[in-house]
Amino acid sequence: MKEEMFCEGVTRRDFMKACVTATAMMGLPFAMHTQVAEAVEKNANPAVIWLHFQECTGCSESLLRSSHPTIASLILDMISLDYHETLMVGAGHQAEQALHDSMKANHGKYILVVEGAIPTKQNGIFCKVSGKTALESLQHAAEGAAAIISIGTCASYGGIQAASPNPTGAVGVRDIIKDKPIINIPGCPPSPYNFLSTVLYYLTFKKLPELDALGRPKFAYGRRIHEHCERRPHFDAGRFAKAYGDPTHAQGYCLYKLGCKGPATYANCSVQRFNDVGVWPVSVGHPCIGCTEPDLLFKTAIAEKVQIHEPTPFDSYAPVDLKEKGKGPDPLTTGFVGLAAGAALGAGAMLAKKLPGDAQEGGHEKDE
Ligand code: SF4
Repeated sequence: MKEEMFCEGVTRRDFMKACVTATAMMGLPFAMHTQVAEAVEKNANPAVIWLHFQECTGCSESLLRSSHPTIASLILDMISLDYHETLMVGAGHQAEQALHDSMKANHGKYILVVEGAIPTKQNGIFCKVSGKTALESLQHAAEGAAAIISIGTCASYGGIQAASPNPTGAVGVRDIIKDKPIINIPGCPPSPYNFLSTVLYYLTFKKLPELDALGRPKFAYGRRIHEHCERRPHFDAGRFAKAYGDPTHAQGYCLYKLGCKGPATYANCSVQRFNDVGVWPVSVGHPCIGCTEPDLLFKTAIAEKVQIHEPTPFDSYAPVDLKEKGKGPDPLTTGFVGLAAGAALGAGAMLAKKLPGDAQEGGHEKDE
């Protein structure tokens, strides 16, 4: 299998690099990347059936548009994608036959990937493929699945289709299927690496990774993006962008007052980022919209500020003990850490004191 993969422009170096990245993302020791790579090489391609319901296909597009190395190639070569309405060559009866054949041949073993919400009102007539409602297709395909991956916010929680007044009664997979292991990979779209890492974890350990209360893998959704955001030093120092395009925005100040949901959003966007060029919404000037959180996306206005209930310290620098002379880190690191630690300690109090107040010119808050 790997020989074929490498023939298609994905080098062994690309493959190992992706395994190292995924191993780090899963929180596994570095040395385990070889075990992950071996698991991929040993295991026969698991059958995957990928169903599309109420959605924009953005999750598939995000996966396919990745490059350097081609994450899509890696994923598509390590699984046997037996049915995917956007990618498959077959159409009509031929496509239906492929779906039927795969479900029969791999009963109890295939991975079912669902992209999009499922309408439930009026028996689900709002989304039909091949004469069957999304509800019927999901229930039928779930019967023989070993596990289900809900990719994207729509399949996880209903997404924009479930926004009030939710005319079609759209819901996520976990609202319908109750007797199968289901993993949610929310995001609009989610990082392709979160999907890749989940597949690699499943191939390596033959089980799903540890999940949080919302069914998300903890390795990818265990921390708030606010804890690793590059604008966090501005937040801690009380420097907030006041308007799009003004000097405070152009200078990269914190976007909290423009409605950034980062302090309440659990995801790894600020670490793993997108498009293989290291960007994510906050880095290009747009506040996080909380797309991985069922209570934020399409339920809270983009400009609305979130409450910060548990201020957490900045998490990008290692702690140091400055008491023991000569045993600390170099002065440059110490300077950064001191700045970050001091800022983190004062962040909660600063927020309570300053957020309601007016900002001075240039975005700095008034000291009292
Ligand atoms: Fe970054 Fe948003 Fe937190 Fe500001 S509020 S530090 S922009 S995540």
